[in-house]
Amino acid sequence: MSYTVAGAEGEWEIVCGLEVHAQVTSQAKLFSGASTEFGAEPNSQVSFVDAGFPGMLPVINAECVAQAVRTGLGLDAQINLVSKFDRKNYFYADLPQGYQISQLYHPIVGAGHVEIEVEGETRRIGVTRLHLEQDAGKSLHDQDPSRSFIDLNRSGVALMEIVSEPDIRSPEEAGAYLRKLRSILRYLGTCDGNMEEGSMRADVNVSVRKHGEPFRTRCEVKNVNSIRYVMHAVEVEARRQVDVWESGGEVRQETRLYDNVRGETRSMRSKENAHDYRYFPDPDLLPLVLEEAWVAELKTHLPELPDAKRARFVSQYGLSPYDAAVLVAEQATAVFFESVAHGRDAKAAANWVMGDLFGALNRTGRTIEDSPVSAAALGEMLDLMADNTINGRIAKDVFEAMVETGDMPGAIVEARGLRQVTDTGAIDAAIEAVIAANGDKVEQYRGGKEKLFGFFVGQVMKAMAGKGNPALVNEALKTRLAA
Ligand code: ADP
Ligand code: MG
Repeated sequence: MSYTVAGAEGEWEIVCGLEVHAQVTSQAKLFSGASTEFGAEPNSQVSFVDAGFPGMLPVINAECVAQAVRTGLGLDAQINLVSKFDRKNYFYADLPQGYQISQLYHPIVGAGHVEIEVEGETRRIGVTRLHLEQDAGKSLHDQDPSRSFIDLNRSGVALMEIVSEPDIRSPEEAGAYLRKLRSILRYLGTCDGNMEEGSMRADVNVSVRKHGEPFRTRCEVKNVNSIRYVMHAVEVEARRQVDVWESGGEVRQETRLYDNVRGETRSMRSKENAHDYRYFPDPDLLPLVLEEAWVAELKTHLPELPDAKRARFVSQYGLSPYDAAVLVAEQATAVFFESVAHGRDAKAAANWVMGDLFGALNRTGRTIEDSPVSAAALGEMLDLMADNTINGRIAKDVFEAMVETGDMPGAIVEARGLRQVTDTGAIDAAIEAVIAANGDKVEQYRGGKEKLFGFFVGQVMKAMAGKGNPALVNEALKTRLAA
């Protein structure tokens, strides 16, 4: 599938590769014991290492290493048993060491991939590498325009930089890649994927070309912090480049900034190269050497990841691939669904979770974790339908009452007298009343206007406050009208 750049004269193809910075979920920073908790008082979580005090030595945090390896395994990637740390030197006020410790030449994780689906088509996006590096501090310019403040809480926090191959071909694919990557990281518990809190940010590399041509010059749009913005940045940057090429100009390789208010990218600086940073091996850190057995041990403890879970939901529960994808996107939803579906009609469970439950969560601004309807409650409601205690119409009302009150469905049915009526005497009485009140329609029906059957069903159900057993009502009505 090719993507056509809107408004362009010729046929252009987008080429995009993403560099995702994902904050590692860990108690402590990459090379110090300071806490990584979000939202703390500025500069309250800063060790001497993070503040760049002279003579302080970094000590690698084994948990961060394990998290990077788990992520690599989750991306089906090569795990490099030997990796090395380099210093990337540059000056900035929020970088007190004067360099960032990163892994340019020997990253901990090599090639892997992420599978995405866009418009029903599955595509594999290559992951070039994943390396560990330190985050910088944060500069705050907004409180007082004449001064800048520095918060070093983030300084030294472990990041995984996950670099994709230039395999992405449209804004939709960029969005699908980020959603899938975030889902995998969350399943693994290696990054919370919270883009609003900055724990996942993306540098967006974009170029455009005519179909079949070699790649052209790319620009890198820095630090885009939501999936929607990434998609939009791809679109507007591609558009800008097409305009440059089509007006006879040439795209210059540069680093650009995405302005979400004006919906455009702007030049920041010409592209820096690796040699500008004077990378060299960090003399304070030994090469990182992993034991194969340790990696294998981590692998045995990986959770079932979204793609595998989705395939299982299709085969085990007979769900459509689309429904299965919706249910596995968040691990909590998958767990909820399986607990409802266990021993029950799985398709019904899926429909209630994706339909009524998602609707209720949306409406009440809640997530599946704090759902007003528990999996046990929804399961009980499916049981009440399966054993004919309530019919499908009443179930909708019972569900709404469950959302409002948090009560169990059995209790709601009893308290409100919502049991389905299977007593044929009561059903016959309702039918007689409806027939008596609609003599003209009965005649039309008997004269061949069979469409009217639905009208009679509706009237009888209404007379029974919705509680009639639909199958019994249908059967009794058919017999009575034929008479
Ligand atoms: P850096 O940005 O640090 O110089 P790389 O040169 O390895 O690093 O490229 C980084 C990203 O740019 C990768 O995600 C890669 O897929 C992407 N990329 C490389 N070439 C192109 C291109 N011609 N068009 C779009 N993206 C590209
Ligand atoms: Mg880059």
